[in-house]
Amino acid sequence: MNSQEMYEKMKAKLERVVPDVELRYKAEIAVEIEELKKHRNAVILGHNYMEPALFHSIPDFTGDSLDLSRKAARTDKDVIVFCGVRFMAETAKILNPSKTVLLPSAKAGCSLAASITVDDVHALKNKFPGVPVVTYVNTYADVKAESDICCTSSNAIAVVESLHTQAVIFLPDEYLAKNVARETGKHIIFPSVSGGKTDSDDGLDYQLIGWRGRCEVHEKFTVKDIETVRAQFPDVAILAHPECSPEVTAAADFSGSTNAMIRYVQESQAPHYLLLTECAMGDNIAAANPQKDMLRLCMVRCPHMNMITMEDTRDALKFNQYVIEIPEEIRIKAYRAVERMIQIG
Ligand code: SF4
Repeated sequence: MNSQEMYEKMKAKLERVVPDVELRYKAEIAVEIEELKKHRNAVILGHNYMEPALFHSIPDFTGDSLDLSRKAARTDKDVIVFCGVRFMAETAKILNPSKTVLLPSAKAGCSLAASITVDDVHALKNKFPGVPVVTYVNTYADVKAESDICCTSSNAIAVVESLHTQAVIFLPDEYLAKNVARETGKHIIFPSVSGGKTDSDDGLDYQLIGWRGRCEVHEKFTVKDIETVRAQFPDVAILAHPECSPEVTAAADFSGSTNAMIRYVQESQAPHYLLLTECAMGDNIAAANPQKDMLRLCMVRCPHMNMITMEDTRDALKFNQYVIEIPEEIRIKAYRAVERMIQIG
């Protein structure tokens, strides 16, 4: 495909979302990426939070963490380029040890993944011996390796319920844990692991043991935001990601993973939609569904996801950067937790 053909293809989806001058520029980079992709026998995975021009041009597969983990597990390509953040690329490497996994920006981290260390997990396991550990996929490989099973926002409840135990340690997202607790009717505590007594250290009346990690994007949405938007657009359908606070998810019309939000918009008929998640996803849905009116709260952006650009993706393939490496003893243990999650679906 030449750059004019690529431009036409991108324009068909993006002309109402991306200015023409940007489309022409990015179409040229997309052609370069396509050639490099063939040359290197690579597959490109694009998370739902990628900017619209990237999202609607170069990925072979798009989706949420769980989706892309499954795609990564099935690929027969030599190279996986993960347009997402580091913990996602690590998950692809955990599932594909013999393949080269590239993350286009070395700095694309995540506040949730950074909120917990392997020492924190050890301290919790010592405090609650025998209690199984569920970790959200938004964690680094060494933390996954200390877990019994992983989960995503789309399968968190199914994963917790699959364990059939009296208590579960659920890490590291405070709000996702509270949302799971609310939906399953479980009592949640947030213990101290560094000494000092907390309110929750009393008694054994707990079923979920949480951690106070947060997504720096989703924690910013408030019930006041919802009220303000509803005052202006009374018939808006508001969708909140489960990394938002329980107050926000309760005030929204729907709460679900990024893929579940996309399905909700596609399958319903509201006059307007507002997604309480990374703003780029609203643009991506608007591009794919021109008949839907998407409102956006774009003052909240993920600085990590925004680090992944088309230029960086091209350079990743050109210069073989940034290669994800995981020590094999950690990878094997993390693999068990991720694979167990994938089996649940
Ligand atoms: S949106 Fe939140 S959870 Fe997702 S990568 Fe950014 S900081 Fe991490």
